Amino acid sequence: MRIYKVGGAVRDRLLGKPVTDIDWVVVGATTEEMLAKGFRPVGADFPVFLHPKSGEEYALARTERKSGRGYGGFTFHASPEVTLEEDLIRRDLTINAMAEDDQQNLTDPYHGQRDLEARLLRHVSPAFAEDPLRVLRVARFAARYATLGFTVAPETLALMRQLSESGELEALTPERSWKEISRALMEDQPQVFLEVLRACGALKVLMPEVDALFGVPQPPAHHPEIDTGAHTLSVLQQAALHKQPLTVRWACLLHDLGKGLTPEDEWPRHIAHEFKGLKLIKAVNERFKVPKDCQELALLVGEYHTHGHRALELKPSTLLELLQSFDIYRRPQRFEEFIAACEMDARGRKGLEERSYPQADYLRGAATAARSVAVQPLLEKGFKGPELGEEIKRERLKALKAYKEATSV
Ligand code: ATP
Ligand code: MG
Repeated sequence: MRIYKVGGAVRDRLLGKPVTDIDWVVVGATTEEMLAKGFRPVGADFPVFLHPKSGEEYALARTERKSGRGYGGFTFHASPEVTLEEDLIRRDLTINAMAEDDQQNLTDPYHGQRDLEARLLRHVSPAFAEDPLRVLRVARFAARYATLGFTVAPETLALMRQLSESGELEALTPERSWKEISRALMEDQPQVFLEVLRACGALKVLMPEVDALFGVPQPPAHHPEIDTGAHTLSVLQQAALHKQPLTVRWACLLHDLGKGLTPEDEWPRHIAHEFKGLKLIKAVNERFKVPKDCQELALLVGEYHTHGHRALELKPSTLLELLQSFDIYRRPQRFEEFIAACEMDARGRKGLEERSYPQADYLRGAATAARSVAVQPLLEKGFKGPELGEEIKRERLKALKAYKEATSV
C-alpha cells in the first residue's frame, strides 16, 4: 500500500500556511489490510479509518458516482485498483486535489500548483456539480484566502450558478450547510463568503432574507454607504476585524433583515424594522438549525440594536427594560455580546469605522449599576414573592436614575 497526504495539508504547506489537520489517502489497500494494521473504521458507509496512534483520518482511494438527489445519493467504489489520480479527480478544487508522499514528491494531475500561483479557486472536473455543498465550500475558501488574492475562476462560478438555479441547494441538510456557514463566518474576510454566494445566485436560495437587503437604501446622513446589503457586509467585516465570536457574527449578519420588508414608498427610512425583522431572523435560524446561543443573540440584537445606539438618550425606565430583557443578572456574557454587535453595527458604516462608540461603556456602567442592588437587605425588610420582585425593580430604577445623573454633563 502507498500512503499520501492530500487536501488541505498539501495546499496549506505550499501556501506557507500552518497545517492543522492532515488527511491521508491510501492506495492499493483493502479494508482487511487496514484493520489488520490496527486502523479503526470510522463509519459503515465510507472506507475511512483512524490511525491507531495519531487519530488522523486515512481514506482508501475511491471513486464516486452520483446516484440520486442529496448527499445520500452517492455510490462509492473503493478497491486496491483505484489509482491516486482517480481519487483526486472526485475532489472539489484543483488546489485541494494534490497529493504528497513522505518525500514531499507532489502528485498534481489537475494543476493545483498552477492555480495556487494564479490565486484561482477552480473546480477539478464537471463532477463538481454532483455535490451542491461545494458551492458553500468554494465560497468559504474564497473568504479564507481573499487576503492572499484568491478569486473564483469564472468557469467555476458559472457551474456554481447552474447548481444554484437547479434547485439542488435545497437538498442540503441543515447540518451540512451550517457547518460551512459557521466556519466561513469565522474566517478573516467573512463578507467575501456572502459576496461569492450572492454572485452565483446561491444567497437568494439559501438566505433570501439577506439577499433582499441589496438595493435597499438607508438615510445617507446615518449611513453614508446607503445600501443595506453593503452595510451588512461591512458590519460582518468589522466583526472579523475585531475578532468577535460566532454568536456576534451571526447576529451582525441578521440584525437588519427587517429593512428588506420596508415598502419602497417609505424608503430610505425603516420604521420599526427591528421588530418586523424578528420573524425573518427566526426563519433563518430554524432553516439551518442554528445553535441556541447564536439564535438567541441574533433575535435580541435584531430587536434591540437601535436601543444600543441610543443608549445615552434612553430614559432610566427604558434602560431598565433593556437590561431586564437581557437578564443581565444571570447572563452577563450575552449582554457583552449584544454591546459588541451594536458597536460593530455602528462601525460598519462607510467612513465611520474608527469613530468611538461611547454607548458601549455607558451600557456596561448601567448594567453594573442595576446589578449593584442587593437583594438581602430587601429580604430582611420582609419583602417576598411578587412584592419582592417589584421592590427590586424599583431599587434598580433608582440606581439607574442616579447613574444617568452622575454620567450626564
Ligand atoms: P480545511 O483546512 O478546511 O480542513 P480541507 O481542504 O482539508 O480544508 P476537508 O473538509 O478537511 O478540507 O477535506 C479534505 C479534502 O477532501 C479536501 O481538500 C477535498 O480534496 C476533499 N473534499 C472534502 N469535502 C469535499 C466535497 N464536498 N467535495 C469534494 N471534495 C471534498
Ligand atoms: Mg482538512
